[in-house]
Amino acid sequence: MVKQLAIDHEKINLLNFDRSGLAEYFVSIGEASYRATQVIQWVHQLGAKNFDVMTNVSKSLRLRLAERCEIRVPELVMDRLSQDGTRKFLLKLSCGNCVETVFIPEEDRGTLCVSSQVGCSLNCTFCSTGSQGYNRDLSTSEIIGQVYLAHHLMATQVKSRPITNIVMMGMGEPLLNFDNVVAAMNLMQDDFAYGISKYRLTLSTAGVVPRIYDLAKVSHVALAISLHAPNDVLRSEIVPLNKKYPIAELMQACQFYFKDAPRRHITMEYVMLKGVNDQPQHARELVQLLRDIHCKVNLIPFNPFPGTKYECSDRLTIERFRDMLMQAGLQTMTRKTRGDDIDAACGQLAGEFTDRTKRSAKLAKIAIQAQ
Ligand code: SAH
Repeated sequence: MVKQLAIDHEKINLLNFDRSGLAEYFVSIGEASYRATQVIQWVHQLGAKNFDVMTNVSKSLRLRLAERCEIRVPELVMDRLSQDGTRKFLLKLSCGNCVETVFIPEEDRGTLCVSSQVGCSLNCTFCSTGSQGYNRDLSTSEIIGQVYLAHHLMATQVKSRPITNIVMMGMGEPLLNFDNVVAAMNLMQDDFAYGISKYRLTLSTAGVVPRIYDLAKVSHVALAISLHAPNDVLRSEIVPLNKKYPIAELMQACQFYFKDAPRRHITMEYVMLKGVNDQPQHARELVQLLRDIHCKVNLIPFNPFPGTKYECSDRLTIERFRDMLMQAGLQTMTRKTRGDDIDAACGQLAGEFTDRTKRSAKLAKIAIQAQ
């Protein structure tokens, strides 16, 4: 693994390691594993950019680290503030592509929405990221680099914690970049890094079923499922991944995920698309489907983007839908749209990158033909 990381760039980027990975690396170069804790704290909590400042680390190790390793974060190229306080960061990666990260401040919390891939390969029909195509997975350093940058930009003192919650709901499908996402989430939770509790760290997935079982083995973070439809016909239309992993399999995986923590619930995300999935019959089907799943439902008003064929359901339709779920005993809330004036709302993240799938070009051609 260490060898592979070195090919990536001449020097080994320490941001690619979680604590156990760094301990393994130190042991491999003949150093004590406990050094990993010190270095992780210097890098993530104290924002050290070089090794000279790491005064509790032996001089010889500092010299070796300076020779072989580096602390490299993506470059911040844009920092936009919405009228509602939402902040969007555009980060440039060493390959030249850019990804987006969003900070959403609320009275009692500050949530960072983190990207896991450059683009997304899943092509959900209502998502702007999907229509932009896919380029590649982010490395651990590029995922945790988003937290590092946002934290150090916003923390006014060493001990201040502007980020209290993290959601893996930015660009990409986190479960299709499993190892890098898990390592980055380990760092997010590490008390010597960002100390986010497993209750305040949420991974959102379109439903990569086998990876939900894998995740249950290595982590107990909160899980959100992008459900969006109560039956396979409709879901396969708007979340094409459903053809591979249909709803029944997904629900089984959900039941398995928290089987050892029966008090914890899964969040079912449901984007409200006018005339598509927002009718009373859909609400009734959803109630049936979720009858035996310990979950909460999060209704998300659809955020439009250029070229989309969808519209957001009316306020009254959303209210009626929510009331039907609530009356049937499903805990339901409607997500407040934040940051849409700077295209930072759910599903609006697009970044700037080369689409390797050529999907964006195909869609543009179709749009021109339709005019
Ligand atoms: N791939 C993951 C994470 C990224 S999407 C997933 O599918 O869960 C994060 C959330 O934003 C998902 O619930 C997604 O369905 C929702 N979303 C995507 N596009 C949206 C849009 N245009 N309006 C509102 N929500 C959207």
